[in-house]
Amino acid sequence: MGKPTGFMEYQRELPRDREPLERVGDWQEFHLHLPEERLQDQGARCMDCGIPFCHTGALISGMASGCPVNNLIPEWNDLVYRGLWREALERLLKTNNFPEFTGRVCPAPCEGSCVLGLNETPVTIKNIECAIIDKAFDEGWMTPRPPEKRTGKKVAVVGSGPAGLACADQLNRAGHWVTVFERADRIGGLLMYGIPNMKLDKQKVVQRRVDLMAAEGVRFVTGVEIGKDLPAVQLRGEFDAIVLCCGATKPNDFFTKTEGRQLKGIHMAVPFLHANTKSLLDAGHSDGEYISAKDKDVIVIGGGDTGTDCVGTSMRHGCKSLLQLEIVPMPSVERAPDNPWPEWPRIYRLDYGQEEAKALWGDDPRKYAVQTTKFIGDARGQVKAIEMVQVEWVKGDNGRAMPKNIAGSERVVPAQLVLFALGFSGPEALVLDQLGVEKDERSNAKAQYGKFSTNVEGVFAAGDMRRGQSLVVWAINEGRGAARECDRHLMGQTQLP
Ligand SMILES: Cc1cc2nc3c(=O)[nH]c(=O)nc-3n(C[C@H](O)[C@H](O)[C@H](O)COP(=O)(O)OP(=O)(O)OC[C@H]3O[C@@H](n4cnc5c(N)ncnc54)[C@H](O)[C@@H]3O)c2cc1C
Ligand code: SF4
Repeated sequence: MGKPTGFMEYQRELPRDREPLERVGDWQEFHLHLPEERLQDQGARCMDCGIPFCHTGALISGMASGCPVNNLIPEWNDLVYRGLWREALERLLKTNNFPEFTGRVCPAPCEGSCVLGLNETPVTIKNIECAIIDKAFDEGWMTPRPPEKRTGKKVAVVGSGPAGLACADQLNRAGHWVTVFERADRIGGLLMYGIPNMKLDKQKVVQRRVDLMAAEGVRFVTGVEIGKDLPAVQLRGEFDAIVLCCGATKPNDFFTKTEGRQLKGIHMAVPFLHANTKSLLDAGHSDGEYISAKDKDVIVIGGGDTGTDCVGTSMRHGCKSLLQLEIVPMPSVERAPDNPWPEWPRIYRLDYGQEEAKALWGDDPRKYAVQTTKFIGDARGQVKAIEMVQVEWVKGDNGRAMPKNIAGSERVVPAQLVLFALGFSGPEALVLDQLGVEKDERSNAKAQYGKFSTNVEGVFAAGDMRRGQSLVVWAINEGRGAARECDRHLMGQTQLP
């Protein structure tokens, strides 16, 4: 264990992010690192608990509690405290293929369940994780390590998000020839074209990992949509196994029956974010091939990471005003009695986008317990305002809480750009149908967690496509698991974790 009295001597300390008013003027990452000695003090706070809840990854009340990839957190906290960074890296890479992604974008369920969080502030686990891997890249420790032997087996991975990448990385380590097919023009799935550059740098972080994997022997094919450009069944003939990691890309749209939904200027979040990043990477936005929020009143409907990314992106375009609408009530500042440790704390947080909006306009842009009732257009069919109403949550006949409009609370607010960040209903069906893969009741690829095999022999499914919309860390967990089971299928046994 690190320092027995560390948690009493040192306060939790995170590096300051770049100043909101400065960073909102560019697309550079906003995270900074603490100097090494101060990170070591943070590692010293870890108590090496007898039962380290931080790395359990159990589902409690439907939410992850502890690390879903079971990172060996107490071990690398101790190694960082002792200044043994290389050893810490070795431990970290045993469980997580891409700590540079989770170290930046994970909501850190590990910290929500850290034992120290019971009566103190938790260990800064995510920040230490990020520091270990960033140092490893800076020091030149992350060199290509192709497998010593090849098995001669060929695997097609469809989709290059974190699930597909983790799966490909593991299968390549096991010696199989892996080809990753991606319909977009760049590799990375939502790491590339969902999460914006200021949260996760595309060139310096995502592409760096893709290049490393390519140097280790993974083949990447972009611009090919399996099912359209290449029939899925053709893969069956050319590869010994297929792993489907196509994500959950069908967006929810709760407003199909709402007046004015067809107006111009109303967009889904992911196409908005995708086009923005593509234009940024292709041409620094000079090609104009994106939906601009400049000088517009923007309304983002829906919270979560996607909503926050729309907020951060709109401000960087130079929007005139911004509101983010949530139908749910504002969460409490502290854990509620029905949300005890080690559950994921459902509390009020100011994420980076809202922090920036507050710095610009003096207030959190989120409005809670409001429902959009109408989109109002101008003579050209362009949205110009929305009507919204305050709701109260009341128990229905089935005992479940339902939103009820509060009469007289209607108001109209200007909006020339409306973005829906309302989650996803499941994967697209084309590839599944072409291969004859069964779906579950939520339209996801049907494959048991832990086995990842579908009803079609030699076809596996992982990530959001199997699990439904989730987190990067779960996608990595699933990609690793699917690789293990695929390897077992190909070789009759497996050494993969
Ligand atoms: C805007 C946004 C922000 C998010 N922010 C966070 C965050 O901060 N932290 C976090 O933990 N999670 C976040 N998430 C969730 C997280 O990104 C996803 O859970 C994760 O990326 C899922 O990984 P995946 O590999 O299963 O799928 P994806 O990342 O969706 O990748 C699937 C890939 O498959 C490709 N594909 C689909 N069909 C085909 C086909 N037929 N042929 C070829 N390619 C195909 C797609 O183009 C895509 O690139 C966010 C999600 C969104 C939408
Ligand atoms: S729960 Fe917190 S204090 Fe305990 S081992 Fe994990 S990180 Fe360290």
